[in-house]
Amino acid sequence: MTDDLRSSVVLGSRVLAENGHSDMVWGHLSLRDPAGRGIWIKRAGLGFEELTSDDIHLVGWDGERVEGGGDVHLECHIHLEVMRARADVSSVVHSHPEAAVTLAGTGIPLLAVGHEACFFAPGDLPRFTETGDLIRDPALGRSVAATLGERNAALLVDHGIVVAESSLPRAVFGAVLLERAARMTLAAVSAAGGVGNVAHSSQAEALAKRDRCYSDRQVGHGWDYLVRRLRTDTERKGTSS
Ligand SMILES: [Zn+2]
Repeated sequence: MTDDLRSSVVLGSRVLAENGHSDMVWGHLSLRDPAGRGIWIKRAGLGFEELTSDDIHLVGWDGERVEGGGDVHLECHIHLEVMRARADVSSVVHSHPEAAVTLAGTGIPLLAVGHEACFFAPGDLPRFTETGDLIRDPALGRSVAATLGERNAALLVDHGIVVAESSLPRAVFGAVLLERAARMTLAAVSAAGGVGNVAHSSQAEALAKRDRCYSDRQVGHGWDYLVRRLRTDTERKGTSS
């Protein structure tokens, strides 16, 4: 059971690494402990793509390590406080992907110029502006959770992203979509010369697409694809080395 939880966090972290979420050793993916003891998350000091099951430890609700080795990430409070506030959230991604962080700093809204942004409908993502510094204590974690509210993602201005979902595949898949949606929004606004010149889905269409494009079944297919591609890439690298 514990092995399965650790393996899931390793797999999700590798998918994040393959899809634009690596920032050296910073950023993390968490999974709620089914027994209610806290969160499973990687130890500090390693990148998403470097992990093995031994690098995933259990952090209790007080931010202290309960099981496993290594140092606890300073920003564990993002995960702990979001999950404490949201019983419906089982997995959280916090990372620093370039396009989403850039978008956060511009104030430009996330636009549904493709399907991707519809995962986060309705409306623009909430933006956390209290600090661009690390979310290093429970009080800041609670502020991030308050900014997130009932949504499934938020931008931390001058810092990164938070994606909070009902399952680890949905959280990782959402993080992958968010970075793509941010990149497309920036490109569209830049090419068109302003937000007002960009054609994008209405709120009603974005909501309809959220349910049609990103049902659990559809996300399951997308997740399976991301895992297959990861394994194919890993095998190719193994063959070529
Ligand atoms: Zn961070």
